[in-house]
Amino acid sequence: MKRIALFPGSFDPLTMGHLDTIERGAKLFDELIIGVFVNTTKKSLFTGEERLALVKASVAHIENVRVITQAQKLTVEVAEELGAKFLLRGIRSVKDYEYEKEIALMNRHLDNHLESVFLLAAPEYSHISSSILKEVMIFDGDVKEYLPQPVYEALEKKREQIEK
Ligand code: ADP
Repeated sequence: MKRIALFPGSFDPLTMGHLDTIERGAKLFDELIIGVFVNTTKKSLFTGEERLALVKASVAHIENVRVITQAQKLTVEVAEELGAKFLLRGIRSVKDYEYEKEIALMNRHLDNHLESVFLLAAPEYSHISSSILKEVMIFDGDVKEYLPQPVYEALEKKREQIEK
C-alpha cells in the first residue's frame, strides 16, 4: 500500500523552511500532499488561490509531491478522503512543540489511525516564519535567501501595491 502523508498549513506564504520540510518529507513517503488551508486564527496576506499557486510553483521540481486546497474542513477528514495515514508538520522550537502537541493530540482524538510525524526545522531556517518574513520584506529588508523565487517575486509585487 502507498504511504501517503498530508502536510497541512496556511503557507502565507511558503518559506524556505516549509520547502526544506517538504523536500525532506517527500523522501519519507511514497506521496506527499501539501494541503493549503485556512488558519482561522490568522489573518492572511495572500488569498487562498495565490497561496496555492505559489506552493505549486515552488514544489514543481519534486516528483512525488502534489498540492491541494480545501474549503473549511477538518484536517483529519481531508486526510481520510486522500487515503493519507500520516500528517507531516515542522517544529522550530519549544513554542512550536507546545502548539503542535495540542493539534496532534486533538487529531489523534478525532482519528487515532492517523499518525502525526514531525521534522525538526533545519538550523538555517529555524528562526524564520511567514509572519516575520512578510514584516521585514514590507519594510524593504533583505530576506531573499529565505524565500523560494516565485514567493519572493509575489511579495515584491505586494510591497509595490502597498506602497502605492
Ligand atoms: P499553520 O497556520 O497551520 O501553523 P504554517 O504555514 O504557519 O501553518 O506552518 C505549517 C507548518 O510548517 C507548521 O508545522 C510549522 O511549524 C512549520 N514551519 C513553519 N515555519 C517553518 C520553518 N521555518 N522550518 C520548518 N518548519 C516550519
